[in-house]
Amino acid sequence: MKAGFVSIFGRPNAGKSTLLNAFMGEKLAIVSPKVQTTRHRIKAIITEKDYQLIFSDTPGIIEPKYKLHEKMMQAVKAAVEDADVALLLFDINDNPEEADAIFASLGLRVPAIVVINKTDKANDEKLRKVREFFQDKKYAKEIITISALHASGTVDLLQRIVHYIPEGEPFFEGDEVSDLPTKFFVGELIREKIFHLFKDEIPYHTTVIVNEFKQKSTLIKIVADIVVQRETQKGIILGEGGKMIRQLGTDARKDIEQFLDQKVFLELFVKVRPKWRDNDLMLKEYGYH
Ligand code: GDP
Ligand code: MG
Repeated sequence: MKAGFVSIFGRPNAGKSTLLNAFMGEKLAIVSPKVQTTRHRIKAIITEKDYQLIFSDTPGIIEPKYKLHEKMMQAVKAAVEDADVALLLFDINDNPEEADAIFASLGLRVPAIVVINKTDKANDEKLRKVREFFQDKKYAKEIITISALHASGTVDLLQRIVHYIPEGEPFFEGDEVSDLPTKFFVGELIREKIFHLFKDEIPYHTTVIVNEFKQKSTLIKIVADIVVQRETQKGIILGEGGKMIRQLGTDARKDIEQFLDQKVFLELFVKVRPKWRDNDLMLKEYGYH
């Protein structure tokens, strides 16, 4: 038996969440075309007959502009420290020099696989060049090319990961998909919809707290707060006559029902908490440890 921890690194939008979803075959990490949607370390677990892999999807590597961003960078560092294997995910259409600088700066002491993603969006010539670029990098044990979106190359990648994982007993029971509570994922699904429905700074000034998660006879009742920083933002989230929040509620409910495989009654409230992003106490309360 083999068991170990796998950290997925990469710039925002490299496809970390998509890859995790491809591995899991279920929508555990949120995916969005906008950057910085993954603030938490999301752990997902694959348990097979002869191995167990525990994945964490780290927040994108970014400059710490706000306290919230500092917490995200701390999460990245923590993920470096407890990984057995690191996946260094690279969007084939990104700048390889910049990615190289970031990968090198992680100071990894564990085996790292450079994973070139979005190969569906590049030709063979480009693929060859990028491969060549990463070939002789010190941190790169090997290079694997995939398309996370089309789950192409991901089975191969999984086998290579298992290769580097140490021998050992599983850390979690076989039926645990993730050690994070379902409540957390529900909050993430709501947050994902905020990213899809609202533009500009709104998603970044918003967090979601799930206050109630109760199993009733025929459905699950979920009550959540959408926390914003200003009254004007509250107005935008609500929309004219409550139009936007209703849309948000409907979209989120559909996804949550699919995820939980159960009927859901979802109630959303919008609350104004000035400067929640810069307030350490509030960050703690909202789960950014
Ligand atoms: P993260 O920020 O690294 O977690 O990136 P996401 O997983 O959220 O992906 C960012 C965007 O890239 C989303 O729109 C994905 O659908 C898209 N994406 C991810 N993997 C691929 C891929 O293999 N091919 C293509 N064409 N798009 C991808
Ligand atoms: Mg992500």
